[in-house]
Amino acid sequence: MSFRATVLTLYPEMFPGPLGVSLAGKALARGDFALETVQIRDFGVGRHRTVDDTPSGGGAGMVMRADVLANAIDSASPAGDPRPRLLMSPRGKPLTQVRVRELAASAGAVILCGRFEGVDERVIEARDLEEVSVGDYILSGGEMAAMVLLDAVVRLLPGVMGNARSGETESFETGLLEHPHYTRPAEWEGRTIPDVLTSGDHGAVERWRQAEAEFITRTRRPDLLAE
Ligand code: SAH
Repeated sequence: MSFRATVLTLYPEMFPGPLGVSLAGKALARGDFALETVQIRDFGVGRHRTVDDTPSGGGAGMVMRADVLANAIDSASPAGDPRPRLLMSPRGKPLTQVRVRELAASAGAVILCGRFEGVDERVIEARDLEEVSVGDYILSGGEMAAMVLLDAVVRLLPGVMGNARSGETESFETGLLEHPHYTRPAEWEGRTIPDVLTSGDHGAVERWRQAEAEFITRTRRPDLLAE
């Protein structure tokens, strides 16, 4: 059973977007994963297919209606669907490579993309939505956040990355940020490549990479070492 993503959005035309090119695009074309979209407006109420309303208590903007979203979710993910239901949200738990790995090993995900001021709190509770953030900043909608999550997941799926090994030593997989990379030419604008990398001594190369990774992590992200 392969990974199946269902994205609930007011802008299905944004998909597959960047997920339709390069490795993800080839994987999608091969059927290594499935990506379907659901137009939330199809579940809107009334002649205008309304999906939002003014915030209770007043204030700026509009809030996506719980009843509309619940109908969209129930249609896309009937009872018994084993996939987690995610809500892209700046209030959510920050996305990590650990959660990405878990998702990549699962049957897929149902992903709700917010717009406007966000969604009615009651649907988050009633449909047990897992709020996921892609960082401490505000996007105009959940679509690009969903693409970030899916891109991170899809590259881990079996068969997607040409060189499976290159996923293993990447930043976060080891608990450290990655060491620097170099390639030809050996000299560029007067800058050379560290001698150890051209020495042919694989043990020394490994030790240098480990030391660099630790140094970069300590200076840039000491919070990662604390974990
Ligand atoms: N009023 C909200 C922001 C709404 S932004 C607040 O202050 O918290 C509109 C939608 O964009 C959100 O519902 C969410 O789906 C999406 N979004 C915005 N920033 C995001 C982030 N950092 N991570 C994930 N989704 C985000």
